[in-house]
Amino acid sequence: MDLQLGGRVVVVTGASSGVGLATTRYLKAEGARVVASARDLDRLRRAVGDLPGPGQVHAAACDVVDRDSVEAMVAEGVAAFGGVDGVVCNAGRSLMAPIGDTTDEQIREELELKVFGAWNVIRAARKHLAASDAASVVNVNAILARQPETRLAVTSAARAALLNLTRTLSQDLGADGIRVNTVALGLIDTGQWRRRYESAGTAQSYEEWAAAIAADRGIALGRFGRAEEVAFPIVSFLSPLSSYCTGATIDVGGGVSRYI
Ligand code: NDP
Repeated sequence: MDLQLGGRVVVVTGASSGVGLATTRYLKAEGARVVASARDLDRLRRAVGDLPGPGQVHAAACDVVDRDSVEAMVAEGVAAFGGVDGVVCNAGRSLMAPIGDTTDEQIREELELKVFGAWNVIRAARKHLAASDAASVVNVNAILARQPETRLAVTSAARAALLNLTRTLSQDLGADGIRVNTVALGLIDTGQWRRRYESAGTAQSYEEWAAAIAADRGIALGRFGRAEEVAFPIVSFLSPLSSYCTGATIDVGGGVSRYI
């Protein structure tokens, strides 16, 4: 099926690893032109340098919490490709700590990363999106937004704030023809989990350690997800074929969510 993304310009943040890299790979295979960004430009260039497919990738550094840096990245993308049809706000990480072990500074940083990390990018791209005939924003979020966990207290709250903001934006930007949707993740095997495994200092193999966590969390499919399993729902929301979908959320959690 042709997802009608050929030639479309999509900004992807956090594109050097995990979900952002898998999304960039998918978009390039579909013929899209991707403005791929992350803070570490060398690592980003190594990651996206030889992805297969008929599309194009322009690598541009930015820190999503720094408004000036985001505006410069979007301007660089527009200079390279002439506009913006889609934005994937994906950059981020999570803070594994109960609220009692969290400093005020960590709380502020987490809220800033989750809220401004998306808003800075959407704000910078807004006028270009409004000029597109198929504008789509996808905010990568977490099932935690609606199903908080005490061990990820601040991340859960910050995720809820982003989900709420996403719904507001879908209302505000609808008049300009800009769709705004959410892909909410469960536990996905990416750099985040590899780093947690290394800091856990366990004698288990990564596979044993991950399987034990999947069992503990009651994931219906019994395993972590893969980044490419998240990329497809993201790309679906970007596709003009999803033209009547806005303010929606797709959970990609293998059945970890408990709400109806
Ligand atoms: P990875 O750690 O694999 O990749 C994170 C990416 O974000 C990297 O490209 C990193 O590059 C970039 N990044 C981090 N901070 C910033 C910043 N301030 N500005 C710009 N780029 C930044 O993460 P995942 O693929 O696992 O995660 C993708 C998104 O999904 C994140 O928002 C994450 O919180 C969310 N998520 C992931 C889950 C999971 O189980 N994996 C579960 C729920 C949500 P660099 O360091 O060079 O900037």
